[in-house]
Amino acid sequence: MKYVSTRAGDSAAQPIGFLDAVLAGLAPDGGLYVPESWPTFTHEEIAAFAGQPYAAVAAAVIGKFADGEIPTDVLEEMCAEAYGTFAHAATCPVTQLGPNLFLAELFHGPTLAFKDVAMQLLSRLYEYILRSKGRTLTIVCATSGDTGGAAVEAFRGRSNVRIVAMFPEGRISEVQRRFMTTVEDRNVANLSLEGSFDDCQAILKAMFADGQFAQAVDLSAVNSINFARIAAQAVYYFTTAVALGAPHRKVAFAVPTGNFGDAFAAYVAVKMGLPVERILVATNSNDIMARAFEDGRYSRGNVAATQSPAMDIQVASNFERLYFEAVRRDGLETGRAFRAFADTGVIDIPPGALATMRELFGGASTGEADTSRAMLATLNETGRLIDPHTAVAISAAKRTTLPSDATPLIVLSTAHPAKFPEAVHAATGVTPTFPRADRHLADKPERFDRLPADAAVVMDYVRSFAGA
Ligand SMILES: *Cc1c(COP(=O)(O)O)cnc(C)c1O
Repeated sequence: MKYVSTRAGDSAAQPIGFLDAVLAGLAPDGGLYVPESWPTFTHEEIAAFAGQPYAAVAAAVIGKFADGEIPTDVLEEMCAEAYGTFAHAATCPVTQLGPNLFLAELFHGPTLAFKDVAMQLLSRLYEYILRSKGRTLTIVCATSGDTGGAAVEAFRGRSNVRIVAMFPEGRISEVQRRFMTTVEDRNVANLSLEGSFDDCQAILKAMFADGQFAQAVDLSAVNSINFARIAAQAVYYFTTAVALGAPHRKVAFAVPTGNFGDAFAAYVAVKMGLPVERILVATNSNDIMARAFEDGRYSRGNVAATQSPAMDIQVASNFERLYFEAVRRDGLETGRAFRAFADTGVIDIPPGALATMRELFGGASTGEADTSRAMLATLNETGRLIDPHTAVAISAAKRTTLPSDATPLIVLSTAHPAKFPEAVHAATGVTPTFPRADRHLADKPERFDRLPADAAVVMDYVRSFAGA
């Protein structure tokens, strides 16, 4: 199976294999890698997922994308290890909230957010690929919250990889910081930068732009444009749907959305054969994706800070993959549209492509007051605390009518409430308890370095950390 870029033209990237696509992340022509065709499961194969361990379904789904580049037993072992780090025996269990309303709990991983599902697998894929190629990489990650913790936790102690996590001083929560700074492994460095998240991202960009530097430290990134992360996220759409009667009946999903990686993974599951009636893309007031499906205009706005910070995004990188699909894989058109978007901040989705998207996707945005109300209402109706990201999707789900009442609607719960204790307490008056005693975050010493938000200074630091 080859992976192709979403962009075409004279400078188009050459098709590459799965392992190379995993290491590359972004294609050299600026596009995103997608498989040249979608692998599929038969109805019987999907039905047979029922009752299987999560790791076994993961190996089956990801195996379709790796297509022989990783021996089956190695992939099975990787998945068993990755999902063995989760605190729930079902990995991503489904619970019921109301009549035909369900919650897919994706937050039982080591850093309490769904980023663990993909990151735990990605770190093992990296280790396998780098070992077999005899290569070493330096991953640098700029984080405003959940990604840094999930990446540090996943890559700590791995051979052939070192990781530097940069975060803006004083702008992330204590829980989020401690997930990074209490890690003792020597292949991890944490940098508290005296600046904003935008400063951190600008420094990361400067590192990639400096070819000499990037080569000297073997620079890599693990952001959500990496196709392996999408493939790993397609898995829980299968396991949760099958638990509720698929493929014999259709299900629907409500997905708390920022960068559109998770919602695109739902689309991937559909292309692989999972019968899904609707994918509801739920955003907070940063509603670029909800508006795109509503009025056909994908247009960048200003980022507003909300109580669901992991979704405070106004450019949803993975939308390029859906666009490419909806224009029938016309790479010239996709390249044109997204290059223009970089300048103008607007794409008017062609009517035919919009109609194709709307066959499966719908959008709904939820403001701050309704997000708080959804947390309180869920506590009152079910006795459960939910986090603000999940609340955004629950609010959207409750405002949506599906073509059939009989279709189960599965809301993805992307973070544990204890990761956002202030917002949960403000909405409900209850402080969530921290679920994983094994993490002992509060009493461990922290380890990080403080630097000015100056690209040259940070690059010197990374060079010396990488021994380059
Ligand atoms: C990252 C994140 C999201 C958004 O996922 P995307 O794939 O970026 O759309 C939602 N909720 C939580 C808790 C997250 O960490």
